[in-house]
Amino acid sequence: MDTFTGPGYGIARIRAEDSDNNYSYVIWCAETSECVVIDPNEPIEILNFIRDNGLSVKYVVNTHCHPDHILGNDPILKVSLSKILVHPLGREMVTPRSAPIENGDTIKFGNLAIKIAHTPGHCPEHLTLIFEDYVFSGDTLFLSGCGNLKHRGNAEDLFKSLDTVYKKFPEEYKVFVGHDYSDANLRFALDIEPGNKDAKNKLDEINKNHEKGKEPAPTTIGEEKKYNPFLRFDEPSLVSELQKRNPELDGSPMSVFKELRKLRDDWE
Ligand SMILES: [Zn+2]
Repeated sequence: MDTFTGPGYGIARIRAEDSDNNYSYVIWCAETSECVVIDPNEPIEILNFIRDNGLSVKYVVNTHCHPDHILGNDPILKVSLSKILVHPLGREMVTPRSAPIENGDTIKFGNLAIKIAHTPGHCPEHLTLIFEDYVFSGDTLFLSGCGNLKHRGNAEDLFKSLDTVYKKFPEEYKVFVGHDYSDANLRFALDIEPGNKDAKNKLDEINKNHEKGKEPAPTTIGEEKKYNPFLRFDEPSLVSELQKRNPELDGSPMSVFKELRKLRDDWE
């Protein structure tokens, strides 16, 4: 686990044991000790952290309702007065002790507020949470990657979410992702763009941190635009690289995005 603090708030990032490199998060108000839990996977470490820091859970927020993002919901509800917040399209997949949240809504707790954007694609109910200058991306954007489409996914929707929401975020916004796939994602990015120095430098940094047992630091939207192929579908160098591999590719951003997603799925 690591923690990040700012004026009046703290964020804990918890990597779940025995998971698919899942991260869960707790954001708390330093003044009132109210907190929200995002995407609880393995609940024990989260509940210990909450107890040890005297926090009270107001809401559990699910970015989406794939099983690994809602696994810890019920154990947290059992020991708190909280309820689940999800997009209406995900409500049937969680306990009835829940309320719907939609694009443009604000979640208030303590003195803090989280803004909600609906970013479908990885699945229809997917939400992105925006708190201060942090973006909680769930499985929409990863370090140097994006969510797959294997479980209720839609390529056009995911393209639109990345193009019209993520690419429009301020460059300095930092991204807290739902899974750490950074090593494989950066190696894929280098396979697609072998000359991308930013991808190479980030991979070296990630590997050095890994040797020291450190988690990758949250990256910024600006950094991601430099090496994440799934935000680079309109980069001429990347487009021509893909067209060399597949001369049929028309080169439109959507076709490039779909080709990248397909290549990534077949890559490992
Ligand atoms: Zn997912």
